[in-house]
Amino acid sequence: MAFQKQLIRKVGRAVHEFDMIRAGDSIAVGVSGGKDSLALLGALQALQKRAPIPFDLQAFTIEQGKFVRPIEPLGEYMEQIGIHWTYYRDQASFDLIEEQPGHGCDACSRYRRRAVYDVAKQLGVNVIALGHTADDLCESLLRNALYTGKLGALPAVAQSRSGEFRLIRPLIYVSEEITSGYVQEQGVEITPCVCSFKTGTVRESLRTFLQATKQNNPHVMENLLAAMGRIDPSRLLDRRFIELESAIEDSDSLPNCASDLLQIQILETI
Ligand code: SF4
Repeated sequence: MAFQKQLIRKVGRAVHEFDMIRAGDSIAVGVSGGKDSLALLGALQALQKRAPIPFDLQAFTIEQGKFVRPIEPLGEYMEQIGIHWTYYRDQASFDLIEEQPGHGCDACSRYRRRAVYDVAKQLGVNVIALGHTADDLCESLLRNALYTGKLGALPAVAQSRSGEFRLIRPLIYVSEEITSGYVQEQGVEITPCVCSFKTGTVRESLRTFLQATKQNNPHVMENLLAAMGRIDPSRLLDRRFIELESAIEDSDSLPNCASDLLQIQILETI
């Protein structure tokens, strides 16, 4: 039960720090069939039992034609754990596959978002819980910085554009090592999506980079997460957040010749 303990503790921390769940909330967990969303559902169910405030919990799955095998048997698991589950086959996504077989993630996730809001509306919930993990946040931070020129990852809590739903990401502090360990520990069967086997993607290259960096420093992910919660705007270049008159130069911000040289040597040996 080591992974379950870590999972619940980290989800509890995120829920508390970002005020994700409020009394009387009706929450729908978007379950993709993978390890992360199933771990999220398990953690929220455990928190529901011990939380001092009442909230409702249910789950839904959007079928976009990308699961490696039929997802319907997930219904039996949901019944076993006492969760009301809605399976929604998104016809628009099936049409997209037929009409544009080479479509990318942008179109796919746009269709999924629309379907998620449609389902949430039908279920009458006010909160949608999403299974993005600490790994997703770190990859998103690097992807945005390297490919879009923006410094940002994913919001822990956000309102949908219409203001109808609160979107929460309770797994922001949970690594995929923990979600994998949790589903194995619990004997939960997962149903992957075909895209999880894709190679040559930006996501895969960032994952490989992070894994390789972890070989030398096992704490890189924790450090990236900590950095997202400890921004120093005076050392960045966004003029909206810099008070030019009060910025203070200290010894940390002066170039250190020794470490610069060391970095150059490292780069030369790569
Ligand atoms: S990885 Fe696959 S399922 Fe996910 S958004 Fe991209 S196309 Fe869609």
